[in-house]
This record gives sequence, C-alpha cells and structure tokens, in this order.
Amino acid sequence: MNIEKLIRTNIKNLKPYSSARNEYTGEAMMFLDANENPFNEPYNRYPDPLQREVKEKIAVIKGCEPSQIFLGNGSDEPIDLLFRAFCEPKQDNIVTIDPTYGMYQVAADINDTEVRKVKLDESYHFSAEELLKAADNNTKLIFICSPNNPTGNLLDKNEVIKLIEVFSGIVIIDEAYIDFAPDASMLPELNKYENLVILQTFSKAWGMAGIRLGMAFANSEIIKILNKIKYPYNINMLTQQKALELLLQEQEKKEWVEILLTERKKLENTLKDLAFVQKVYPSDANFVLVKMHDARGIYDYLVENGIIVRDRSKVVLCNDSLRITVGKPEENEILIEKLKELI
Ligand SMILES: *Cc1c(COP(=O)(O)O)cnc(C)c1O
Repeated sequence: MNIEKLIRTNIKNLKPYSSARNEYTGEAMMFLDANENPFNEPYNRYPDPLQREVKEKIAVIKGCEPSQIFLGNGSDEPIDLLFRAFCEPKQDNIVTIDPTYGMYQVAADINDTEVRKVKLDESYHFSAEELLKAADNNTKLIFICSPNNPTGNLLDKNEVIKLIEVFSGIVIIDEAYIDFAPDASMLPELNKYENLVILQTFSKAWGMAGIRLGMAFANSEIIKILNKIKYPYNINMLTQQKALELLLQEQEKKEWVEILLTERKKLENTLKDLAFVQKVYPSDANFVLVKMHDARGIYDYLVENGIIVRDRSKVVLCNDSLRITVGKPEENEILIEKLKELI
C-alpha cells in the first residue's frame, strides 16, 4: 500500500502554513511571537493547533497513539479534508453505499467529485464484491457508515475487512453510532491496515454535538496529510477545554448509553404493535427506522403536536419510513401516547 501515491500532487507539494504556535511550542517567560493582545487572558491566546492535551486523553480511552488521531470541527471536517487530500476534482471518484449519510455526497459535490452509489440489499447489507466492481483506477475513497444512517444497522464486519484488504485506495468507516453497538468498532484493526480511516464523534453518545468535535483515526501518515491541509487553529480553545472536562465523564456517557439502549428496546417493542406500523428495522444505533402507512401524514401529525422526527420516506429503500431518535424516557412515552391516539 502506497499512501503517498494516492495523494493529489498539489497537496503532496503543498508547503503548509506554519503558525507561531507550531514553530515554538515550549514554555517561555513571555510570548511576543503571534501578535496576540497581551490582555484578556486566557482567551487572548491562540489554541494548540494540534490539540495535544485532548489527543493524549482520547488516546488513553481509545487505546491508540496520539499520532493516530486527527481532530476536526465535527466529523464533517475530516470528511471534507479526505476529499481535498485524495480526490482530484472532475477526475477522481468515490464509492459508497445507498442509502447512507448525506454528507459524503455534499462533500463530494463541493469537491467536484463523482459519487458511485451501490444500493444495499433489502435487509440493508452490502457486498464487498459489488462495491469493488463499482470502483476503477480513479476511485480514491470508499465510504462505509456502520451502524449506518438512516438504516440503523451495523454492517457485516467480514465484508468491511474484505473491502479494506482488496481495495487499493482508502476505506473510511464512519462509526458515529459505534458507542451504541458494543465491541463492534474497527479501531482494534487500525494497526493492521494502512488504508483504513475510522471516523468517530462526540456528537452522539458523548452528548457534545454543540461543541463540534469529530475524530478521525488512521495511521500517522494519513493523519499528517490531514494536519497539513486543515485550518491551523481548527479546534477553538473553548472546545478543547470543554472536551478535556467532559472526557472525565466517561462513566456518565456509559450510563447514558445503557439508558438509551433500554429505551430503544422499549420503543421498538411498542412501535411494532401499532396498527399502522409495518416494520421496525433492527437498530444498532440511538434511533430507529420505522416503516408505516402514510409516513408523511404521521410526520405532519407529530409536528402539529410539537414532536419532530426525520421524514426519510423519499430516501431509496426507506419509502414510508420515519427515523426516530431515542429520547429521554419521558419523551419516548409522550411520543408513544401521541401515536396511540391515532388508532
Ligand atoms: C451524526 C453523524 C455524524 C456526526 O457528525 P459531526 O459532524 O461529528 O457532528 C457523522 N456521521 C454520521 C453518519 C452521522 O449520522
């Protein structure tokens, strides 16, 4: 595997911006190097461009090296940077499954890169062979989302591994919902595959969507490329501080996950007994995809009652389906009550 050969030439040749905080990183009596205002501490200072303290903590929790971590403004940032690093606009393409998370298509469109979508089967699984068949010499990235959004299911690990082993480009596994699927992460495989990128986020199980912090795990060569092209201070000081604080609450996160998994089970069981519900798809995430008669009508009815769910009824293989996030116990109860009133 030669990652170097996959990088766009302009990115390979790029001389990155070197910030004051990059050039000198030690302790000092005074910092007169970055044209900061000396007053209004601590907000007057630029944040650590490489977020070293945060990465140290994450590395311990995840069992990897800090050099294998990239932090972005949500997962959206590494998704965009992967396109910018590897996909030559108007020439290269990516392969992904359908349906899946909408940001891959948006990032591809922004970067003028073709998306080759391979439909999942009726039970929302994919075949590595079919994805590889859709790829050609200009395919640089394959995006797999597992557990998949909006279908909710984990994808077959053997198929994922086959993809990584056979594909000569980079395979990105988006694990935004992995905390809800115990022991299913591909992270333990990270050292085995040079072309594997795993995306995780603080937006879901960790309960920090508001601070915008996403993680990409990969071998240090890929991480270096992402660091080279990111905005120098992509993670602001407030986000880094808050993340350091909230990373100490891992136990609380685990408790939230336990509650949400119990609530999901309850929701699945009650939903499937409602007369207008045709199918509750199996979920490994913190949401359920539910197929029902007149999904749009039910969506509108819920909106009228102040309950917003996601209408996915126009999405491939999701016709007549709503995606419902698992809420607090009392929220889920109200949802069920309102739906029962329809019968
Ligand atoms: C919610 C979600 C994310 C998280 O995106 P952030 O930018 O980190 O908030 C990433 N991938 C998928 C599939 C998601 O559903």
